[in-house]
Amino acid sequence: MMATNTLSLSNVTKIYDDGRGILAVDDLSLTIEEGEFLVFVGPSGCGKSTTLRMIAGLETATDGEIRLAETDITDRRPNDRNIAMVFQNYALYPHMTVRENISFGLKMSTTLSNDEIDRQVTSTAELMGISDLLDKKPGELSGGQQQRVALGRAIVRKPAVFLMDEPLSNLDAKLRTEMRIELQNLQENLNVTTVYVTHDQTEAMTMGDRIAILNDGQLQQIGTPLECYHQPANQFVAGFIGSPSMNFFEVTHRDNELVHDGFRYTLPAAAASVVAGESATVLGIRPEDIKVVDAGNDNAISATVSVVEPTGDANHVYLDIGGQRVVASLPGDQVIHSGETLHVDFPGCKIHLFDRENGRALHTREAPTDEADLQV
Ligand code: ADP
Repeated sequence: MMATNTLSLSNVTKIYDDGRGILAVDDLSLTIEEGEFLVFVGPSGCGKSTTLRMIAGLETATDGEIRLAETDITDRRPNDRNIAMVFQNYALYPHMTVRENISFGLKMSTTLSNDEIDRQVTSTAELMGISDLLDKKPGELSGGQQQRVALGRAIVRKPAVFLMDEPLSNLDAKLRTEMRIELQNLQENLNVTTVYVTHDQTEAMTMGDRIAILNDGQLQQIGTPLECYHQPANQFVAGFIGSPSMNFFEVTHRDNELVHDGFRYTLPAAAASVVAGESATVLGIRPEDIKVVDAGNDNAISATVSVVEPTGDANHVYLDIGGQRVVASLPGDQVIHSGETLHVDFPGCKIHLFDRENGRALHTREAPTDEADLQV
């Protein structure tokens, strides 16, 4: 039997009928489990907000079905869906106090007594740490405080599902990190199914139980953050998840050897067997997986350092390999100067191979098998 508040999308499609017929969401199917925190992530214009707005009922789906538990909610009015949405711009009523903002939805959509509404507003304000702001107007609050009020207003309704559209993007970096943790704790405590939209892959990686990566309206992959990082389904996901982005090399094959203008690379047996019939593929290696080695090492690749960007814990080292720009993330205490020549290795257990025609992953790095491996 289906869990109570499972949210499922089946073949959901949205075409904006504005004369140009933009296909914003293309045949999207996925299931969000009860209590799960699912993050939609992808570049601007990939269809994240449209998907969220269809779940909320603010846009109508052109095709497909949206179900909450057993119920088809595809064509229900927003207020009849038992879903609460938190927006990027907070959307608080400026002329109302915080107390009035939080209680407004309850007054409109329930038959609770005023005393009961007061009790619920008070306990939600305590939960959100905004009890002392209840008599202020939104204009008197900081961005972080307004965001707490907007969340409080959603929480007080005790919805079956929370929808959040870039709710932290108006906050400065430090506050964003704080609110990220606070939101995660809150979601865990309330255990409400949550769908969260962001273009920021770090936010997606750190917050999501699972992430759904979209591009051009199409689902590229859905999985835990680490699955998407270690085993990206295609070149798009591989390049989108992880920062700095994965390096890609267009290579040709000679037996079990990859040939690039800057190097020849002997494939490990597991990878060689997967691409045996291919003549041209794309080799992928993450910046953090590139290692500096001695010149005499097998598979050592000669690289010229063009720029070193220290971030403290790491150095982002921009290299020239056979005329191609490559970024390596090396330990911050390793002294490296621009202009010097290094030798680097792409460890065999860390490489990815993609079909050059359609970007599909042919081989991904070995996934970590235990906790210790995750510390790499
Ligand atoms: P994201 O949230 O990932 O940035 P959106 O869902 O907002 O993407 O947009 C997906 C696509 O649909 C884009 O090409 C965008 O220009 C288009 N789009 C979004 N809203 C409308 C609209 N109201 N009318 C026409 N096209 C729209």
